[in-house]
Amino acid sequence: DTSHGAILYLEDITVSFDGFRALNKLSLDISDGELRCIIGPNGAGKTTMMDVITGKTRPDSGTAYFGQTLDLTRMSEVQIAHAGIGRKFQRPTVFEQHTVFENLEMAMKMDKRVRPTLFFRISGEQRDRIREVLALIRLEGHERRLAGLLSHGQKQWLEIGMLLMQEPRLLLLDEPVAGMSDAETERTAELLDDLRGKHSIVVVEHDMAFVNHIARGGKVTVLHEGSVLAQGSMREVQADERVIEVYLGR
Ligand code: ADP
Repeated sequence: DTSHGAILYLEDITVSFDGFRALNKLSLDISDGELRCIIGPNGAGKTTMMDVITGKTRPDSGTAYFGQTLDLTRMSEVQIAHAGIGRKFQRPTVFEQHTVFENLEMAMKMDKRVRPTLFFRISGEQRDRIREVLALIRLEGHERRLAGLLSHGQKQWLEIGMLLMQEPRLLLLDEPVAGMSDAETERTAELLDDLRGKHSIVVVEHDMAFVNHIARGGKVTVLHEGSVLAQGSMREVQADERVIEVYLGR
C-alpha cells in the first residue's frame, strides 16, 4: 500500500478538457512533513493537479486522499480548505489597504476553526502567534506598514504568513519565487527551510536553481503530459534521459 504514511495520495487521477487529457492517470504520494517540488514543462498538468487537490477541478476518475481518510474529490473547496490545505497562487493577494499585522490578524479570524466571526479581540496567545509568523516571513519591524507598500517579494511572504495563520497541514505553493529578485529568492529558500518538517509542502516551480536549492536531496517529481515522467533527487531527475528530452525539446 503506497498510501501508508502519506498525507496526500493521488491515485489514477484523470482530468479531460474537451477530450484532451490534462491529467492522465496521475498517481503521486506526499509523505507527512515532506517538502516536494513538482516541475515539468508548460502544459504538463501542474496547475490542473493543484486544482484537483483544492477541489477547484473535479477529476473524471481517480481519487485523492488527504490524511488517509478524506477523499478530496468528494469535497468542496471550502471543506478542503477547512480540512487543512492552504494554497498560494502565483500572484499575491493581500489586503493592500491594511497593515501587515492586520492582514495576519484577518487571516487568523477567517479560520472557521478558530471562531466564525471577524469581530472579536485576539488573545495574547494569538498575538504571540502573529509575532512568531512575522519573524518567520521576514517582516518583523514591518507590521505597521500598509501591505500595498510592500515589495513584490514581501507581499508573497505575507501571503504565505496568512496561510500559516490557518495552521495548514499541507501548503501548496504555486511558483513562489516568480518575479522575485535574487535576494528575495534566497530569503524565500530560507523561509521554506524554516517551514520544513513543520508542514507538508508542495512547491510547483520553474526556477531550477531554486528547486535545486530547496529540494536538498529530497524527492522531486517531474510531470509530463499529465502523469509522472520521473521522480527522484534533483541529481537523478536531471540525469534522466526522458527528462532531458522533454526539457531540451525533441
Ligand atoms: P501546467 O500548469 O503544467 O503548465 P496546466 O495544468 O495548466 O499545465 O495545463 C495542462 C493542459 O491542460 C494544457 O495543455 C492546458 O492547455 C490544458 N488546460 C488546462 N486548463 C484547461 C481548461 N480549463 N480548459 C481547457 N484546457 C485546459
